[in-house]
Amino acid sequence: MGDVILRVENLYKTFQKKIKAVQGVTFEVEEGDVFGFLGPNGAGKTTTIRMILGLIRPDSGEVYIDNYSIRKERFAALKKVGALVEGPAFYGYLSARDNLKIFAEYSGDISISRIDEVLEIVGLTKRAKDKVNGYSLGMRQRLGIAQALLNNPRLLILDEPTNGLDPYGVQEVRNLIKRLSCDEKITIFISSHILSEIEQICNKVAIINQGKLIVSGKVSELLNPEQRIYEITGPD
Ligand code: ATP
Repeated sequence: MGDVILRVENLYKTFQKKIKAVQGVTFEVEEGDVFGFLGPNGAGKTTTIRMILGLIRPDSGEVYIDNYSIRKERFAALKKVGALVEGPAFYGYLSARDNLKIFAEYSGDISISRIDEVLEIVGLTKRAKDKVNGYSLGMRQRLGIAQALLNNPRLLILDEPTNGLDPYGVQEVRNLIKRLSCDEKITIFISSHILSEIEQICNKVAIINQGKLIVSGKVSELLNPEQRIYEITGPD
């Protein structure tokens, strides 16, 4: 077993006093995992991720990244985290490389050579000087992942990164995630509403529905068709 890199403890979040978006979600992600967070639209995935990243405050519960509390030690907790939460915003009239340069300048402490490295990792080196306006959605997502990799994260959090992509883009992003896990040794937390996606790329899964965690464990034990103990239906 690897060290626990992300611990989510009994998170609750209600919006407008009545929308119970997240109701007692608990799970652990270990170093080296590709951890799938599976659930249909409106299940509470994005709300959970926003609480993990400290973007919104839970009503109760705790999040620890690398044993740092996101509430009390936010800077230390997020130091080695990369995230792609919403469709990333880029300057379309600038090149991919220039977009990353601007982001790096804001973030500080990121070298030009790291920019070229992350472009290489996501397979965009040859298109790095092209304007982002000419990029497909899949390429933009990969550029978003490149941006999330700039600070050399140990944990990468991706909220439905294949949403809205054409089949080619979907496969490219899935292949990239597998490479990041195998070659770059980055722990990945990925949300999705697509069962086959989780089966294809993840070793562990937590299934959420209507704000509640239904089950979590190894994909091979929970989702393997031979011994499947939980059935979930959804678009492929
Ligand atoms: P999707 O894939 O559709 O984004 P999700 O699993 O990520 O689904 P959430 O976005 O976390 O689900 O939403 C969970 C519930 O909380 C939904 O009913 C949603 O409408 C509601 N919700 C989320 N954010 C807010 C908000 N800021 N104000 C009010 N309700 C919200």
